[in-house]
Amino acid sequence: MLEKLIFVINCGSSSLKFSVINPIKKKKILYGLAENFNDKSSIIWNFNNKKNEITFNNKITHKFVLNYIIKEIFKKYSLYDNIVGIGHRIVHGGNKFTNSTLITDIVLKEIKRASVFAPLHNPIQIVGIKKIKTILPHLKNKQVAVFDTSFHQTMPIESYLYGLPIKFYKKYKIRRYGAHGTSHKYVTKVAAKFLNIELNNFNCISCHLGNGSSITAINNGKSIDTSMGLTPLEGLVMGTRCGNIDPAIIFYMYDKLNFNINKIYNILTQKSGMLGLTNITSDFRYIEENYYKNKNIKIATNVFIHSLIKYIASYSVLMNNKINAIIFTGGIGENSVLIREKTIKKLKILKFFIDKNLNYKTKQGKMGIISTHLSIPILVIPTNEELMIAQDTFKIINNLKY
Ligand code: ADP
Repeated sequence: MLEKLIFVINCGSSSLKFSVINPIKKKKILYGLAENFNDKSSIIWNFNNKKNEITFNNKITHKFVLNYIIKEIFKKYSLYDNIVGIGHRIVHGGNKFTNSTLITDIVLKEIKRASVFAPLHNPIQIVGIKKIKTILPHLKNKQVAVFDTSFHQTMPIESYLYGLPIKFYKKYKIRRYGAHGTSHKYVTKVAAKFLNIELNNFNCISCHLGNGSSITAINNGKSIDTSMGLTPLEGLVMGTRCGNIDPAIIFYMYDKLNFNINKIYNILTQKSGMLGLTNITSDFRYIEENYYKNKNIKIATNVFIHSLIKYIASYSVLMNNKINAIIFTGGIGENSVLIREKTIKKLKILKFFIDKNLNYKTKQGKMGIISTHLSIPILVIPTNEELMIAQDTFKIINNLKY
């Protein structure tokens, strides 16, 4: 019998990540990345632990890349007939989607409607969905949308409303939506299983720390608050995003510094965060190596940790009656021994105690507990958004219990 595989597609503004996954065996068969669409574009992929690359001297598009993957790469490895469904990562689902869903014309319209909150992502993700319909017509009704926002649709109204005139919510749907939902959902499930607690009774604080970072408070397996907002700009200090700032800073930049709106947007999203504070880099490998050597790096890192502990501490009071675990994931959460140690050391009051040795050993894809026996469990769980997308897709196209 043919092995049933899911094609997972993540269209970024000028990149496209893809993978082919066996959702039952939880096995990644193929994965790759197309990037630099406007310049020296390339598609890099890995099959059977062998890296392959093709470069193009001209501009490429998402449509071109999808065509290449299906017509050339799938053909090369005879994968075409194994693909039974396609899972699309969709950045913003607005307030309509509480779960992943089969893509219909109505769903497409909603994704389009939510584009106003993710203008660089949703439109290009629609392009991907439409292109698949033409290259894989036999699978046109086997496409599933997995939203970054849907896991957070369980937040109560007091978590998602901003202190703005209510018409901005009622008329314009301006509210907190959150992001990284697929990752928070995945690590929560894995953590509950690891600790042998029913997901429905599991309370935790999930810290996804990567180039973009967010924290989520989870009660009974459901998101009840999260640090990202209408867009991923709110919340923690991130790689290049500023996170929480006084909105008056924007008026200051506009009125007093005469910066136009595009320039301000660019500063807040691309030039701020750890890159802006260190004035060197947003790469935590470099930051970790130089924490004790470079004063600016030390200050920036301490700002990052300060914003992290404030969220963890405030979310701890939202937990039902107990916290079952705190989870670290994402490139920094999974690997930065320094950030985890310095963060947890400041959380003694909440009964979190780190085991230095376990912390040191748990990195580079390792999963495990890094707390002492006196502590509430502190877990490191490598995220796997693609697997989550593949599993959701497989369940939905087969009408399996969700
Ligand atoms: P994205 O949000 O783009 O998915 P990732 O989750 O891949 O980002 O995380 C990227 C971040 O993880 C970068 O800041 C990178 O420096 C950091 N990182 C990756 N590996 C390590 C490591 N071994 N030690 C410390 N930080 C790391």
